[in-house]
Amino acid sequence: MPSARQNLWPMLLGWLMLLLTYLGALLIVLSDSVALRVGGGLFFAFKGLTWLVTFFAVLVRPRLGWRLFVGRYRYDSSQHHFWRAMLQAFTRFWWELPQLWTGYMVSQWRVIFGQIDRVESLGGITFAIAEKSPGGMSMGMSLGPYVNIWLPEEVIGDFDRHVRLHSGQLLMHEFGHTVDSMRWGWLYLPVIGLPSLLSQWVELVTRGSRHQHRHLYAERWANRNAQHYFGIKMRDLQA
Ligand SMILES: [Zn+2]
Repeated sequence: MPSARQNLWPMLLGWLMLLLTYLGALLIVLSDSVALRVGGGLFFAFKGLTWLVTFFAVLVRPRLGWRLFVGRYRYDSSQHHFWRAMLQAFTRFWWELPQLWTGYMVSQWRVIFGQIDRVESLGGITFAIAEKSPGGMSMGMSLGPYVNIWLPEEVIGDFDRHVRLHSGQLLMHEFGHTVDSMRWGWLYLPVIGLPSLLSQWVELVTRGSRHQHRHLYAERWANRNAQHYFGIKMRDLQA
């Protein structure tokens, strides 16, 4: 069981980083450079939009919307991962800002339109889950600490167990991408997110004859991260 003290430091660091991010944006808005002022203005515009979408999501689906919102301030609480939690708290609000924002907005948007059945948390990562997806689709999209996922099955029982045993390692794979989000920060979308999306598309249109998505460097990195975190052999890395 995680102790209260163990959660306290990451939480405090997270709040401090969030405060510094706001202060930084405020200073930028008040600066002399027009370009910086536009950047700072955009930050506050995006923040406003986030609050608006959060408000609607919690209004329409209180439990799911609230759980997604709280996920912003949740870090890895397992006993052996204190420093991982501290790193999450340190990077989340500024270094991972583009994917935090996109991931959060996509999840809340899906909540508002009734496409989410459940919100789960594991290792400080929030999973927005659609269960029993049409056509048995199994798909995931990892953006910062938010994983949007479509599962053919229903999640029953302990989520940690489900992540390890079901959905052909998809949940662990998506979790692996979130580790690279912490590493790459603002470069995550150009280095991992977009190439990964493109690779999936190329595999789809060539029906895998020219290119297999799972062989892309970013996909192998995700599996390597997952293997390290969960201590499970990922299929793609077995050869
Ligand atoms: Zn992937």
